[in-house]
Amino acid sequence: MKKKPDGDLLFQALQRISVPTFVIDRDHIVTHWNLALEDLTGYTAADMVGTRDHWRAFYAAEKPLLADHVLDNVREHVIDGFYDGKHRKSSLIEGAYEVEDFFPGLGDDGRWLFFTATPIPDADGGMLGAVQTLEDVTERKKVEEELRESETRYRQMSITDSLTKLYNSRHFFRQLRQEIERAKRYDEPLSLILLDIDNFKGYNDSYGHLEGDRVLAVLAEVIRLNLRIADTAFRYGGEEFTVILPETEGENAILVAERLRKGFEETALSPLPRSEVHMTISVGVAQYVADEQETVFIKRADSAMYTAKTSGKNRVFLAR
Ligand code: GH3
Ligand code: MG
Ligand code: MG
Repeated sequence: MKKKPDGDLLFQALQRISVPTFVIDRDHIVTHWNLALEDLTGYTAADMVGTRDHWRAFYAAEKPLLADHVLDNVREHVIDGFYDGKHRKSSLIEGAYEVEDFFPGLGDDGRWLFFTATPIPDADGGMLGAVQTLEDVTERKKVEEELRESETRYRQMSITDSLTKLYNSRHFFRQLRQEIERAKRYDEPLSLILLDIDNFKGYNDSYGHLEGDRVLAVLAEVIRLNLRIADTAFRYGGEEFTVILPETEGENAILVAERLRKGFEETALSPLPRSEVHMTISVGVAQYVADEQETVFIKRADSAMYTAKTSGKNRVFLAR
C-alpha cells in the first residue's frame, strides 16, 4: 500500500528549499514562510505565520501581493493596475502569474524580484490557498542595465566624430535618406547645407596640423551654437561639414547658412600666443527637388559650394 505523504517532511522540505517561498490559506492568512524568504526579507516565520501581514515584507503601506490576487482569481486588468504591464501569465501553470518588479524598501538600495504566484484549488472547485515564490534578480538586472548602457555608448560612438563631437559621415547618409523619405511622405521642404573652410591648407602649413584640428573643433562649436532645434550637423569629410534642415525652404536655409558663415568669420582664432587670426567658410545650400536621388541632392549642394569658392570664397550660394 502506498504511504500518505508525510506532512512534516513536506513542511521541512518547503522550509529548506533555496527559493524564497510563502503560502497563504483561503483566508489570506500566512501558513508558511520559509528560511530563504526570511533571509531575503528580514521577516521571520514567527512574524508572519498566522497573520495577514505578508505585505509588510515588501511595501510600506498595505497592498495585496500577487498571491492574494491569484487567490481571489481577479481579472487580468486588476493585476495590470498593480504591476503596470510588468506581469505575464505563467506558461507553465494554469491561473499562475509572473512579475518582475523593483522593491525600493528591500536591502540597502532596493532589490529586483522575479516572483510567481500560483493558486491552489481544492477538490470542489474552490480555493485552498496560494503559493508565491520569489527570486532576487538584482544582479542580473544590473548586468543587463550595464550592457544596455554600453551598447548605447558604443552606438553613439560609432556615429560621432571624435574631434568635433558632431555626427560622422556614416550617420549623415543614413539620416539624409530618412529625411528625404519623410519630406516625400509629408510633402515638406528639406534643405541641405554643405560647407568647406577657405584656404585651410595654408593654415595647416603655417601653424601645424594640431592647430588646424583645433579650428575644426571651433567651427563645429560655431555650427552647434547657430543651429535650430530640428537641424542636425555632421562632419562630412576632413574640413567639410553638412547640415540637414528638415521642413526648411532653401530661402530659410540660406539664413541659417549666413549665420554660420558670419559666426565663424567673427570668431578669433589664436594659433600663436597673442595672435588673432580669422578664417572663413564657403557654403553651398540646396533645397530637395521632388524625387531626386540623394546623391544628386548632395552633388547640387556641393556644386553650389564650389560656385561660392570660385566667386571669391567666404560666401553662401543657393543651388538652382
Ligand atoms: P579651399 O579654400 O579651396 O577650400 O582651399 P583649402 O586649402 O581649404 O583646400 P582644400 O579644401 O582642398 O584642402 C583641404 C585641406 O584641409 C587639406 C588638409 O591639409 C586639410 N585637412 C583636411 N582634413 C583635416 C583634418 O582633419 N585636420 C587638419 N588639421 N587639416 C585637415
Ligand atoms: Mg575641402
Ligand atoms: Mg577648404
